[in-house]
Amino acid sequence: MKKAVLFAIVGLFLASCSSVLLTGRKQLLLVSDTEVLAMSATSYKQFVDSVPASKNTVQTAIVKRVGNNIAKAVENYLRANNLADEIANLKWEFNLVKDTNVNAFCMPGGKVVFFEGIMPIAKTEAGVATVMGHEVAHAIAKHSNERLSQQMVTSYGANLASILVSNKSAATQQTIGILYGLGTQVGVILPYSRKHEYEADRLGMIFMAMAGYDPNEAISFWERMSANGKSSTMEIMSTHPSDVNRVAQLKANINEALPFYKK
Ligand SMILES: [Zn+2]
Repeated sequence: MKKAVLFAIVGLFLASCSSVLLTGRKQLLLVSDTEVLAMSATSYKQFVDSVPASKNTVQTAIVKRVGNNIAKAVENYLRANNLADEIANLKWEFNLVKDTNVNAFCMPGGKVVFFEGIMPIAKTEAGVATVMGHEVAHAIAKHSNERLSQQMVTSYGANLASILVSNKSAATQQTIGILYGLGTQVGVILPYSRKHEYEADRLGMIFMAMAGYDPNEAISFWERMSANGKSSTMEIMSTHPSDVNRVAQLKANINEALPFYKK
């Protein structure tokens, strides 16, 4: 490899490395939030247009209320810590769709979708807050952007630096196509990595606590999910952590979330 290219890549990576809020984990972000949002907006619109909204007005109201409570609590926390820039590009939306799958997901930009099928397992408002905290965490921790960046590195390897300099939007567009091109398919986005799932669980407990929901309820929720027993590749269940491992991790992290919980 030519030295100049090597330096360009190293420089690029240094410039693109940031840290996840609260967990402090270093992550590689090669594209701007604006780019990710603009390009995933189409997939989101396709999904919303193809799956009917729930007719259950009570449950729809709960999803929207819990979503707004958690978003507001996280925003207040970020503002108080001079981190408001982190979420400047997010425009939250909280939907409940008429679909019996046990699922929920969050598209980049804060577009959260709950499926009716998850509501009986969520059971209580705190259960909804568990799922909501998890999904909001994926957005706040920029997991989509990170996954996109990793995919770009995998796809373009050593040529990445020159591509990003010369034709960045084409490369980004193509990678977004790979990740979000599923369009009308119910899953919409590829499953996150195990690392992202655990991080979303961990941050999710903190976020629900910030909004006044008891983070212990996250443990109960995952125990109910485990008892439900359906294995699934849906976002919320993903392919990754087993419910048992998840519960163990939540218990290990509960003390981190409890100080944020004010009744
Ligand atoms: Zn997830």
